[in-house]
Amino acid sequence: MATVATLLNVVGGRGVEGERTFTKVSPVDGSLVAQVHEASGETVDAAVRAARDALSGPWGRLRTVDRAALLRRVARTVEERAEEFVAAEVADTGKPLELARRLDVARAVANFDHAADFVYGTERQESYSTETGDGRRALNYAYRKPMGVVAVIVPWNLPLLLLTWKVAPALAAGNTVVVKPSELTPSSATLLAEAMAEAGVPDGVVNVVHGFGPGSTGEYLTSHPGIDAITFTGESATGSAIMTAAAPNLTPVSFELGGKNAALVFTDTDLGRAVRGTARSVFTNAGQVCLCTERVYVQRPIFDEFVAGLTDEALALVPGRPDDPRTGIGPLISREHRAKVRSYCELAIKEGATVHAGAEPILFGNELDQGAFFPPTIWTGLGRDAVTVTDEVFGPVCHVAPFDTEEEAVALANGSEYGLAATVWTGDVDRAHRVAPALDVGLAWVNSWWLRDLRSPFGGNGRSGLGREGGRAAADFYSHPTNVCIEIGPR
Ligand code: NAD
Repeated sequence: MATVATLLNVVGGRGVEGERTFTKVSPVDGSLVAQVHEASGETVDAAVRAARDALSGPWGRLRTVDRAALLRRVARTVEERAEEFVAAEVADTGKPLELARRLDVARAVANFDHAADFVYGTERQESYSTETGDGRRALNYAYRKPMGVVAVIVPWNLPLLLLTWKVAPALAAGNTVVVKPSELTPSSATLLAEAMAEAGVPDGVVNVVHGFGPGSTGEYLTSHPGIDAITFTGESATGSAIMTAAAPNLTPVSFELGGKNAALVFTDTDLGRAVRGTARSVFTNAGQVCLCTERVYVQRPIFDEFVAGLTDEALALVPGRPDDPRTGIGPLISREHRAKVRSYCELAIKEGATVHAGAEPILFGNELDQGAFFPPTIWTGLGRDAVTVTDEVFGPVCHVAPFDTEEEAVALANGSEYGLAATVWTGDVDRAHRVAPALDVGLAWVNSWWLRDLRSPFGGNGRSGLGREGGRAAADFYSHPTNVCIEIGPR
């Protein structure tokens, strides 16, 4: 039998118990994964104080070059302990082992290495030689300093990847952090705090508080006056709640939120590549990636062939155990989430969908029936205003609809309250340059999906987010400038 972990909060380098605990179960078979100590308001308060104290300790005095070296040591420690991280991530999410290795843990390592490379950018000094209308002269430059204590709140879909995506640049800029992982994926955050301490990150620089959102850890953290900035990834509605909680303290926020991402497939594309790429963009991580495609628009002459090809790809994805090399798709995060995805499938049928694959939970006839598996699902035939075409489902589902003209395709893609990502499949270079910039999204891929350069800005428009992170954008959010203006005497 697998061991059941006890997960404590980490405050100032110490493990802290909660007055209450909650259980984390596996979405593979419902078995118990961990007993988690929920942080009370007092524990959150202690974590914020520990993070504040650490700013004036050895961490605050580290030279930039030493901070970069330390972030690299963290990357190496995560690499050395990769299989522990894989095990933690798989225990919480049930995703295939190989996916956790090549995606989640590999990206965690890359996030720290990238932050170490980028650390000098966080102190960049814009400078201007000034000459005013009345002949006075000055040198202006901006000196960037850390924000202070940053609250990092992340969801369950890519727990370690998203956590390190935020923690690494926050630390690179010299901040300290209080981290709240999702209640559904508490394991890798606790392990990360341990690995970071092992790499030499001083106590109090990274604190972890476990718990829920409203009336629990998340709310205590986001309304805490000792927090200098909040970075959050999760649902759009949670973003609104956090903004409200942050408002009295005017705490700056950065939000990476939901999506209802479109793919546009033109007749001039390489059809096989577009089908395979779209299948990857719909079904990766059981569709539980904010960047996943849920709306596919295909030019009419190739519509039927595309739907047939995508259906073949969907049916070829075998659901199963994380350690089975034949597994093509893992479970959803929980049975509650599966019930939500299933209810959208029922609604789609009421709204007039034709089902080409999936839509019903899978039966295994063994303990996996206690898990949260759901098959790749494809619908056609829905109207553009159907709830299932406008709401984010966050599962392995998509709707495929035909279009006739390029203008129509762009209008369909942009007809959403969300604006996170989109993909254009075309062999026409002029079309690529016309269509991609016309899409109202933070990220537009051409003939690709989720190909990322960590230096480029990441985020969404509308209900998909507020601000950008990644590269320079992260450096800006995690630091603030003081403009220094030095008057220079007359010529
Ligand atoms: P969620 O918003 O329910 O929860 C995210 C985190 O916020 C969790 O840690 C949760 O405990 C916490 N939380 C919930 N309510 C809170 C509150 N009132 N105050 C403070 N904290 C609170 O999201 P989820 O279900 O965990 O994740 C799925 C969502 O995340 C999807 O909408 C998905 O699109 C989005 N997402 C976006 C991106 C992106 O980069 N844009 C990336 C991944 C996931």
